[in-house]
Amino acid sequence: MNQVYNFSAGPSMLPEQVMRKMQSELLDYRNMKVSVMEVSHRGQDFMELSQKAEQDLRDLMGIPDNYKVLFLQGGASAQFSMVPINLLRGGSVANYANTGRWSVKAIAEAKRYCDVHICTDSKENSYKDIAEFDSWNIDTNGAYLHYTPNETIDGLEFDYVPEVDMPVVADMSSTILSRPCDVSKFGVIYAGAQKNMGLSGLTVVIVRDDLIGEPVDKQPVLFNYSTQANNQSMYNTPSTFSWYAAGLVFDWIKGLGGLESMANINKEKSQKLYSEIDNSELYSNQVNPKYRSWMNVPFVLADDRLDKLFLEKSYNANLLALKGHKAVGGMRASIYNAMPMEGINALVEFMSDFEKQYG
Ligand SMILES: *Cc1c(COP(=O)(O)O)cnc(C)c1O
Repeated sequence: MNQVYNFSAGPSMLPEQVMRKMQSELLDYRNMKVSVMEVSHRGQDFMELSQKAEQDLRDLMGIPDNYKVLFLQGGASAQFSMVPINLLRGGSVANYANTGRWSVKAIAEAKRYCDVHICTDSKENSYKDIAEFDSWNIDTNGAYLHYTPNETIDGLEFDYVPEVDMPVVADMSSTILSRPCDVSKFGVIYAGAQKNMGLSGLTVVIVRDDLIGEPVDKQPVLFNYSTQANNQSMYNTPSTFSWYAAGLVFDWIKGLGGLESMANINKEKSQKLYSEIDNSELYSNQVNPKYRSWMNVPFVLADDRLDKLFLEKSYNANLLALKGHKAVGGMRASIYNAMPMEGINALVEFMSDFEKQYG
């Protein structure tokens, strides 16, 4: 079989090395005679594995000691509720930046718990741009500011962290580990694992100690950061195989040289693809170049009657899952850490040939 490149937005491509490692250890994990899928999360082997994964993530991201790292379930979507449940602490207002379709979802859920103050709204520009931070209207009574550093569907990515006098909460699902990040600027960082950290079923939450309060009345016990932190994310059975897989992904990133190296590669990959789009007559991407995502590259064809043919031909060329999100249409290439430069080269070559033939 020729090399296949999978541009799925999530669950997404995994590094081949990571899958080979899983395969080699699948039936007998380190001479335990059983699979890592089949053992207690409280046994010594799993404890060692889970602690090593946490330490590797701490090393990669430079997570300060006054932050807990939680390995939870429920996806980023569960955090849409857990954030207000844990951070409002009697407050009635929270600031939310609306910069794309994932912000919209986070906002809808937060509205069930508090008054959501929209401090900037990209809806006005159809989620193609982010207003200058100076122009944001922050409610100083807000318990926190929530934003989405990378909008997976719309292809917008922040190149800065908003600085405000309240905890900053970031849904980093589709950008975590793709570039260096100063964790000390955040109150909470959360991310589903299925984009840049491995398999679905695992959600990593990085939360500053002082934001972990007493359990909140009348809320599900599992939705309290304190329950999870006090029990090392093992109040109940965690998603063990996804935790193991994330550990392998962290190892793989360390082997590549960490987040600085990842950033250099990701920047180059995305530039190559945007430049193919910008230099063509057939393809276009309307996001303000300053805020174009390094991870998710949506683009449309000048004539949407060619969409079907583009998808058929690209599939036959082993370039998979390029169909855009239904809210946006057109195409989307998700090019997370696991996508190698060769995959970008193959896509760019395909696009250029397709344009010559049909454009
Ligand atoms: C994928 C994604 C989500 C949803 O994640 P789930 O794990 O399915 O809940 C939320 N936010 C962003 C930015 C995403 O990319």
